[in-house]
Amino acid sequence: MSDGESIKIVDAFDLDDELRSLLKPGEMVRDADNRRHRLPRYFYEVPSREAAMTIRLTPHFGINEFVLVDLKEAARLQEFPRYIPCAVRVLAFYLEQFRAAAGASVHIAVNGGYRSPAHKMSHSATPHMWGTAADIYRIGTTILKSQEAIDKYNDLAEQLTDDITTYPYGHVTGSTADDHLHLDLGYITVVPREISEDRMEVPQESRPRFAFEERRRKDRRAPVTEGAE
Ligand SMILES: [Zn+2]
Repeated sequence: MSDGESIKIVDAFDLDDELRSLLKPGEMVRDADNRRHRLPRYFYEVPSREAAMTIRLTPHFGINEFVLVDLKEAARLQEFPRYIPCAVRVLAFYLEQFRAAAGASVHIAVNGGYRSPAHKMSHSATPHMWGTAADIYRIGTTILKSQEAIDKYNDLAEQLTDDITTYPYGHVTGSTADDHLHLDLGYITVVPREISEDRMEVPQESRPRFAFEERRRKDRRAPVTEGAE
């Protein structure tokens, strides 16, 4: 790659049967309040661990930070190539602003970024299944375990923008751990500009299609004075 990089975008209806059954593109799922939401259809395809580590969405957030999972995620979805909804870049943008407001690095928990519909924590719809939520366990050197710390950063996020929703300390919805700061943007789906929406929501056996989102690497490169977080 020279001064630009690109990320492959796929229509999940073109993926194989197993991946479609795990990612459930376009399917409706109910949230904890019984409202229905349509799952995302367009995903970034991350070809390798190296690519996950290398591709930056913003100067301080790379793809890797949003796909850290353990055995709660389906085994197939932990194999490369891996898939993450395109809306994750919107989340990364907001987290970059949040990081600046906090004045410290923001660390996403394992299982705290994208969780597929097959993930064991996906009991009902949460924005984690859209790639638009983050559970944060540490900011700078502060481990977010106390009500005081979580209240402080919830306030900071809410003052930053009305677009971010937080959970109060000690919530017991079963969708996030109590000792994490949860920030989400709601159920955002991104239709990348490179995609044409003229297809029905069914797989088309003969002509899988994909596109590449060209990214301006220079703008998103982490400052050389700071390590990857
Ligand atoms: Zn969460």
